[in-house]
Amino acid sequence: MAFLVKKFGGTSVGTVERIKHVAKLLVAAKQSGDDVVVVVSAMSGETNRLVALAREMMPAVVDVRELDVLLSTGEQVTIALLAMALKELGVEARSYTGSQVRILTDSSHSKARIINIDKAPIMNDIEQGHIVVVAGFQGVDERGNITTLGRGGSDTSAVALAAALGCDECQIYTDVDGVYTTDPRVESRARRLEKITFEEMLEMASLGSKVLQIRAVEFAGKYNVPLRVLSSFEPGDGTLITLDDEENQMEQALVSGIAFNRDEAQITVAGVADKPGIAYSILGPIADLNIEVDVILQNIGENGLTDFTFTVHRDEYGRVIEFLKSRQDELGAELIHGNDRIVKLSIVGVGMRSHAGIASRMFKALADNGINLRMITTSEIKISVVIDENFLELGVRSLHEEFELAEPTQTS
Ligand code: ADP
Ligand code: ASP
Ligand code: MG
Repeated sequence: MAFLVKKFGGTSVGTVERIKHVAKLLVAAKQSGDDVVVVVSAMSGETNRLVALAREMMPAVVDVRELDVLLSTGEQVTIALLAMALKELGVEARSYTGSQVRILTDSSHSKARIINIDKAPIMNDIEQGHIVVVAGFQGVDERGNITTLGRGGSDTSAVALAAALGCDECQIYTDVDGVYTTDPRVESRARRLEKITFEEMLEMASLGSKVLQIRAVEFAGKYNVPLRVLSSFEPGDGTLITLDDEENQMEQALVSGIAFNRDEAQITVAGVADKPGIAYSILGPIADLNIEVDVILQNIGENGLTDFTFTVHRDEYGRVIEFLKSRQDELGAELIHGNDRIVKLSIVGVGMRSHAGIASRMFKALADNGINLRMITTSEIKISVVIDENFLELGVRSLHEEFELAEPTQTS
């Protein structure tokens, strides 16, 4: 008998039939003696539909407070339908929105952070033998405003609930049966990992693997919540996200996974004065616009001039180019140009810490396939390159092969 949070993503609750299927899985867990709190996403496509409606209504700047009121309705539909399905199967269930449970967040609409969760009302229902169904992705701020946690945020709701309630495991049910060496939709030979460390999962998520929201992994690592990714459609043990295990590290694969991000765009400010403060004068005002900058590269200066290149989210590309062009004279830049048809491709693995030569193997594999590297960045357990988007699939497959990720490793 265990106390579990089980989270079901959009595809898993995408139709009435699928919601009925989820209800059956929950009843089986209940019958085997587990206590369950369920977190659900909106039915697949619903959040995108709501975002599109908001854009139609307010094309220029969308009011984030009202957007959150709108987006939170997606999950409210699912909790009610799932509670109904459970009751139809003869199990007592109660659905709650984020504000009813009082998932207290800060007031940063569309990217709110969870501050506190009221444990008592949920525990009260659990003690009465109910299955508690909570709307993912949403909370409420101190003043009673509805907030949302960012795209993919139901994962974070689930982990936060598991941490607050002291659950034995947080189980993320989705449309794949675990975390793979890379997105199985891009490389069909991708292999499911039985385990991955929090650290590696955090890198994979922040480098673009959307199987888990970054904040969910961060939260699980911080509060030591055992986290597992499983399929809603097939039985199995899925992938367990584990704490760093020093003993295992020696045997660990050099590269655990390949991540990629299609949402980036590259911008270059060429021929600016190579002097102190230049990076700040370019990036400071961009940060003030609340635009996140990812990879940054500055060349060694020549003849007193240097080039400065960075990446931003693709949605911000037009805005940043326009903004920089309006400041071109002030910056004294010769040219401002960019490319929004690029992607970032990365390899991740704690094994990199103790092994040299991984970067050159990566670069050779990509070169052998005629893939040009526009930017390179490394950190302790990852290497990322920026390449043309047309080469993404080829790049993923060549790295998957180079690092023998399709083959079973000793630890799996
Ligand atoms: P949900 O709606 O259940 O939250 P998501 O679409 O957010 O599901 O996440 C699951 C998807 O993540 C998979 O369908 C898969 O295409 C994608 N994905 C990306 N990288 C990986 C990976 N390394 N392992 C497994 N799935 C991945
Ligand atoms: N429904 C939200 C989204 O599509 C949250 C989630 O599914 O986790 O991003
Ligand atoms: Mg998701």
